[in-house]
Amino acid sequence: MKKIPLLLAGALALLFLGSFGPERQPATTRNQATNRLACTASAAPDWGFFAHRRINRLAALTLPPEMMVFFKPNIDWVADHATDPDMRRYATPWEGPRHYIDLDEYGTPPFDQLPRRFLPALQQHTEIFAVLENGDTLMVYGGGNPHTEQPDLPWEQFFSQHILPKFSSGDASLNVDSLQAFLKTGDREIPGALSAFFQENLAKHGILPWHLQRIQGWLTNAFRQRDSKRILRYCADIGHYVGDAHVPLHTTSNYNGQKTGQVGIHGFWESRIPELFADEEYDYFVGKPNYLPQTADYFWDVVLTSHSMVDSVLGIERALRLSFPEDRQMCPDMRNGRVIIAPCRDFAAAYQEAMQGMVERRLRAAIQAVASVWYTAWVDAGQPDLSKLDLPPTTEEELREEEAIRQKFNAGKILGRPEGD
Ligand SMILES: [Zn+2]
Repeated sequence: MKKIPLLLAGALALLFLGSFGPERQPATTRNQATNRLACTASAAPDWGFFAHRRINRLAALTLPPEMMVFFKPNIDWVADHATDPDMRRYATPWEGPRHYIDLDEYGTPPFDQLPRRFLPALQQHTEIFAVLENGDTLMVYGGGNPHTEQPDLPWEQFFSQHILPKFSSGDASLNVDSLQAFLKTGDREIPGALSAFFQENLAKHGILPWHLQRIQGWLTNAFRQRDSKRILRYCADIGHYVGDAHVPLHTTSNYNGQKTGQVGIHGFWESRIPELFADEEYDYFVGKPNYLPQTADYFWDVVLTSHSMVDSVLGIERALRLSFPEDRQMCPDMRNGRVIIAPCRDFAAAYQEAMQGMVERRLRAAIQAVASVWYTAWVDAGQPDLSKLDLPPTTEEELREEEAIRQKFNAGKILGRPEGD
């Protein structure tokens, strides 16, 4: 393989990026060009569309007969829609944080200070303010304000009733009357509050393990109500997020190697490697799904395990890049009839081998996890009979919604964190 001139490499890289959407700055220096090891990342979907679809499809095939009777006729739908959450990232800014959590923003493992349940986590990372008649803004809750976190105040209930429904909605206003009980407690008499609002600081570092808890609840309810459309919708969605939770780079703020001069490693690990090897070389035997007695803890185990692999993902690639012949690291390739540049097959194989098959192991673990999560929701719902579930035809409105999201995705402007997730 001849070495590609850097300028050409930069141009090819841009072509590759263009195939996924958003604009990105060209490599202007040698340093940038040589560090652009994968070039697959930009808005490349996480795990790649390829792997997400495969995870959902193979998970469905492991289900017990009582579930298979419903999933088999719908297996294409559940697989095809495994990528919907990534497409929604182009339609709404609230979607992005559901796909990752930057655990390193919360200290060091095992992150004991970070509440594992969603509501306490939201409480810990939210501030509530009142705007007073005199124009002052007063913090009523949060920020270590000693007056506010008195255990005798029913803040948990307040969060559940007034903040949770507005999470990820763009509406941060609060009815000032709803706060009256808190404004008049003990020695804190705060007259003349005109309005109130909250500021949550949880979403900015990602909410993946907490969102998984919520959607698990929605899925269980959908089974309970035998609502076939919502069962399929939530199965497809949670399959996606469980897949993401198995990717080490979805658990760190250095998600695309941008802090360590390894830009592009996200797509290299989760898209390029599976695309090259998952068909020919991977073993997908995962056995039966397990019942998960504590799904919230389980989701945390998954992301913490992923996080424990971050150093290897980055360190092994860094070492390999130094030892592997430089002119055999990036290769031109074809995608959708266009020339792209991406990690060479041999380079990717060497990375995979140096990681001792980590990508394959995480892919396999994800398949079993997805099946287990679906199975657990069904069991928790009382094992409803799925053999007689009707699936109403897709409505005009549903089709229109799908089309609108597809158009935003095709327009290629991701909302929120730009790359690699
Ligand atoms: Zn995702």
